[in-house]
Amino acid sequence: IPAPTPYYLDGLNPEQRAAVEATDGPVLVLAGAGTGKTRVLTTRIAHLLHLGKAWPGQILAVTFTNKAAREMQERVAALVPGAAEGLNWLGTFHSIAARILRRHAELVGLQPNFTILDADDQLRLMKQLIAAEGLDDKRFPARSLAVLIDRWKNRALTPDRLGSDDAHSFADGKGKLLYTAYQERLKTLNAADFGDLLLHVITIFQQHPDVLADWQRRFKYILVDEYQDTNVAQYLWLRLLAQRWRNLCCVGDDDQSIYGWRGAEVGNILKFESDFPGAVVIRLERNYRSTGHILAAASGLIAANEGRLGKTLWTEDEAGEKVRVIGYWDGEEEARSTADLIEGMRGRGRRLSEMAILVRAGHQTRAFEERFVATGLPYRVIGGPRFYERQEIRDALAYFRVVVQPDDDLAFERIVNVPKRGLGDATIQQLHILARARGISLHRAAEAITESDELKPKARTALRDLMTGFARWRAVGRDLPHAELAETILDESGYTAMWQADKSAEAPGRLDNLKELVDALAGFESLPAFLDHVALVMEIERGDAGQDMVTLMTLHGAKGLEFPVVFLPGWEEGLFPSQRSLDESGLAGLEEERRLAYVGITRARETAIISHAANRRIYNQWQSAIPSRFIDEMPRDHVEIEAKPGLWGANSGSSSLGTSLREADLFGDRGAPGPGFRRAAEVKPTRALDLAVERVTVTDHSGDDFSTGERVFHQKFGYGRIARIEGNKLDINFDKAGVKKVIASFVSRA
Ligand code: ATP
Ligand code: MG
Repeated sequence: IPAPTPYYLDGLNPEQRAAVEATDGPVLVLAGAGTGKTRVLTTRIAHLLHLGKAWPGQILAVTFTNKAAREMQERVAALVPGAAEGLNWLGTFHSIAARILRRHAELVGLQPNFTILDADDQLRLMKQLIAAEGLDDKRFPARSLAVLIDRWKNRALTPDRLGSDDAHSFADGKGKLLYTAYQERLKTLNAADFGDLLLHVITIFQQHPDVLADWQRRFKYILVDEYQDTNVAQYLWLRLLAQRWRNLCCVGDDDQSIYGWRGAEVGNILKFESDFPGAVVIRLERNYRSTGHILAAASGLIAANEGRLGKTLWTEDEAGEKVRVIGYWDGEEEARSTADLIEGMRGRGRRLSEMAILVRAGHQTRAFEERFVATGLPYRVIGGPRFYERQEIRDALAYFRVVVQPDDDLAFERIVNVPKRGLGDATIQQLHILARARGISLHRAAEAITESDELKPKARTALRDLMTGFARWRAVGRDLPHAELAETILDESGYTAMWQADKSAEAPGRLDNLKELVDALAGFESLPAFLDHVALVMEIERGDAGQDMVTLMTLHGAKGLEFPVVFLPGWEEGLFPSQRSLDESGLAGLEEERRLAYVGITRARETAIISHAANRRIYNQWQSAIPSRFIDEMPRDHVEIEAKPGLWGANSGSSSLGTSLREADLFGDRGAPGPGFRRAAEVKPTRALDLAVERVTVTDHSGDDFSTGERVFHQKFGYGRIARIEGNKLDINFDKAGVKKVIASFVSRA
């Protein structure tokens, strides 16, 4: 008598079931969007647990985002009650690698509590290294170096493994040198960047077979979602781990490969069969997600790509609504009408959480956010900053925080050199040393240091001006209405002027945001009350409080997700496909954009609304735009066009839209290592700068036990004799530098 079918296999089609039941040996599921690949993975985990083939802790499951990991955990819990708890190794490549690395950090010269640097810290470090090499950072920007190093890391190339071609890149062959210096610097800071998480683990595995053997033994079953977007380093890592049991199940769709620009290799799909001989390859063809028209429009579009493995997709679902294409006059109208459409559907009983706006580039969310804030429509931005999390808003809030609470070191450090006042890292380090030595805040250290000669005259004047400013703002704050005080602070500190002088595309938006901040602040009884409010609001937003909200996110971030209603704005040549992909020679970039469009449409279950605007404001100038070629490429039978007369221009394929997307715009989601990841990381990272300071030796911490006439040494001014003591300050007659007022903490006995 055959055993009864476990209930969770009931709803699966035969191919899905085969993929679930092929528990042992390598399995590759290659299938289009919405065919149940992720569902197969979830069911497979349930099946393994149900059969007792593995303990939860022996299953390694890799997803692309933390959100996907959480969802998978929940789904398994629903299928096998109680079993999901021990699934400790279900997460993103980065989160899992970080956990492994913490256990063996010392093998690559780190301590277990190493810091994970974010993109900001990373750029700051690289900038310092570029400057230290005497290179012009305008010609050789840190951002380019960051992209380059990231690319190497994605290809699992440590500095010593760089080929001669690679080594010659960046600043006439300085690439390798800077990469080496960067890695050294990270080590002294006890820090790793995202790329290191995997790279270090690979290094450890390769150099310590005993460590590798341990992990190989542990992970009896390995499952990977979104396999098409793994890069070389991730593939290597997987291959190392899977070698013992060879129970590796990867699911993916070559048509959804959208991270080529970050080093993902569709080639990994092709390599699978040769690296894992005897692999079972399963194809799924039935789509369970989208209605007929949506699926047909998406399939027709992707058919325009040449480089694809090719596959059929069908659905038993009804035809449903056609994909709607709406043309607008400008971006503002697009945002306004989209908000209206959302309100309309909400009125007809749709929940906001069933609707998503998926954009090509992070900056596109702003117009929608503004509209939503204005009309009070609840929304969340996944993978990008919300209003209070934006750079200019955080900077402004940091100024206010220091005025209200001088000892707020984090706030102080954030703005002490913003705008640039010539208070570079060296100055900040001195402040840190002093603050530490005396156990005082940076603010108080700054006050003390400006009364000495420790700083170069220019820096001292700049810092003194800032400190006088803070004292003044605190004083006038007692009488001035707080909104006016806020404006005064932003003006007098030079912060507003900094953005006024900025010629970048975002600057006008940032100035608008600052105005909006001051307006918002006026509604509160005091500055401290407002700051409390913001802190709370930010908490709630992070907590996601289960409120019904529209989702705004990038197409990259939407991979694997589904929504009943999907809005796809900005389908214009130069925006989508991006200008960069059009400027490239060859088709690779354009084909990747098309796959991204395919990902976008296939997120929709019932309604997909594409829009484009005839005019966009770029660099504060109006430019006209023509509809994306992708609109034309969808089969007309499945599309309904609602353009206003005259807007539907000829699509020549060349772009009149002068925008070019910067890589930074696309980092909104960053794939796996988003903000969610940082929150999920086990050890709270310390600030990089704090760690930087630890390296500087402080020769004398007390400072109080000097006496006049004593001979001392100062790191900058050299040898000298103490002429006068005034608390912690010493007047010293230096042999070479003459009489200077210095701080005792920086002095040692000669
Ligand atoms: P993507 O390529 O976008 O990641 P996918 O192949 O991972 O898609 P899933 O997200 O697993 O697809 O499934 C798409 C939808 O179809 C989900 O809502 C899922 O619950 C549903 N689904 C999958 N298989 C079945 C099935 N056998 N019966 C009913 N619904 C199914
Ligand atoms: Mg999926």
